[in-house]
Amino acid sequence: MKTVFVVGAGPAGLFAAQKIAQAGHQVVILNRDIKPGGLAEYGIYPTKDKMKVGLRKQFAKVLALPNVHYFGHVCIAEEGCLCIDELRQFNPSAIVFAVGAQGTKKLGLEGSSARGVYSAKDFVYFYNQLPPFALQDFSIGKRVAVIGMGNVAVDLAHWLLVDAPDKPDEVIVVARRGPFEAKFDQKEFAFVEKYLEREAFQQELQRIQPQLAAVEQDINKVAEDTFPILAKSPAERSGPGRLLFRFLSSPSSIHTDGEGRINRLRVSENVLVQRDGNMACKATERSADLDVDTMIFAIGDAADPSVGLPCGPEGYLINPDTADPQRAAYEVFDNERCCAMDGVYVVGWARKASEGLVGIARHDAEVGAVHVLKYLENAPEKESATAAEIKRSIESKGVRVVDKTDLEHLARAEEEQARTRGIAWYKFSDDEAMLASIDEQKERSGGAVATAQAD
Ligand SMILES: Cc1cc2nc3c(=O)[nH]c(=O)nc-3n(C[C@H](O)[C@H](O)[C@H](O)COP(=O)(O)OP(=O)(O)OC[C@H]3O[C@@H](n4cnc5c(N)ncnc54)[C@H](O)[C@@H]3O)c2cc1C
Repeated sequence: MKTVFVVGAGPAGLFAAQKIAQAGHQVVILNRDIKPGGLAEYGIYPTKDKMKVGLRKQFAKVLALPNVHYFGHVCIAEEGCLCIDELRQFNPSAIVFAVGAQGTKKLGLEGSSARGVYSAKDFVYFYNQLPPFALQDFSIGKRVAVIGMGNVAVDLAHWLLVDAPDKPDEVIVVARRGPFEAKFDQKEFAFVEKYLEREAFQQELQRIQPQLAAVEQDINKVAEDTFPILAKSPAERSGPGRLLFRFLSSPSSIHTDGEGRINRLRVSENVLVQRDGNMACKATERSADLDVDTMIFAIGDAADPSVGLPCGPEGYLINPDTADPQRAAYEVFDNERCCAMDGVYVVGWARKASEGLVGIARHDAEVGAVHVLKYLENAPEKESATAAEIKRSIESKGVRVVDKTDLEHLARAEEEQARTRGIAWYKFSDDEAMLASIDEQKERSGGAVATAQAD
């Protein structure tokens, strides 16, 4: 039996942990957030209850395995609770990084630090109540530009038009390519389709008709291809907001009012070009100004370099070995030493940022775990620190570590809050409140459960 560290407790980390633990090894999960689940808890749309509850049950089963230890509220980073070298001092046989894609893709735009300009991930974390985002300023104005045309952009429009406490008048989806390149699933678009401003949409199609015709795209086929809503009769809206689209447009600069908040977005207008069998876009000299007071980038996420793994423009560096590319694709590569980092693996969105739904992240993690298990077969025996030693050592740095028993206390505290407030579910929106509620529950239960487990 060997000890494996899994960094990150999103779907990828948890399903990798399960596979490794089921093979008989000790797994120590170290997670930045207090709660496990990653984007399944703090990204998936808040009202997708059935999916979230189902995933939570699966995650609980993983954590219930006696050889899986959970330490939440522990960030692995060069400037975090622990750095990678410190992790190695605990002598694990392997480390699997499943930290997701916590960085953001940047367009490098002038004015991007303006108030009212947000990255989709931060905004999604905010409305899903992940600390510290839950308590930060993500104020919305009257006209919101959402940059991007995938499922995350649609989730944002869904929140803004349907569930946000202060709904804007307009959400304008700004897409660099055209209506035929929409990347969202119809199932997701169904949540917002009734807000689509039909007349404005038709005008927008007319505006870009010559550019589409130049690449043999016919605006009369938009309805049967990517916007089937256009063929249906309009449904009644439940709110006043309008959903607009601005195609063939890429943000070029952000302009602000006297208080430093975005009040105008300049976009450069694009044309479509065929490139390697795909439809790409090319900027023209033309530009236009959009009057918006809020802007959210939904153009994908990126690896977070602060974790301390070797990182390049495409993410964490992967072993380029061509002898066994399938195995190598999960191994982290040390570019300074020009070799794979021994026993260090990466899975899920940490390996391929923003790649697919939970099922894809799970599959990726399980394939990665199989490579880890093969590695462990021949890895030398090591005297790894025990879970209790690791916890004590992290706590000695002043970090309040949240273990499996604490998670049970937290779940109970949230259930109580929901009952008292007469709502279906309740989430604490800051770490301090979560930790205080854990302590309170612990005290009430006389610490009985708390001392029952070492982790
Ligand atoms: C807005 C949005 C909506 C989505 N909706 C759906 C949907 O409806 N259905 C669906 O199937 N999929 C959906 N997805 C995709 C799904 O969430 C991902 O496929 C999946 O969560 C990726 O899993 P992961 O474990 O690789 O990363 P994540 O879920 O991001 O998990 C990463 C984990 O690592 C931890 N971590 C991060 N940095 C560190 C660190 N430095 N040290 C320690 N721990 C760290 C985090 O706390 C987190 O627990 C959505 C994604 C987004 C962004």
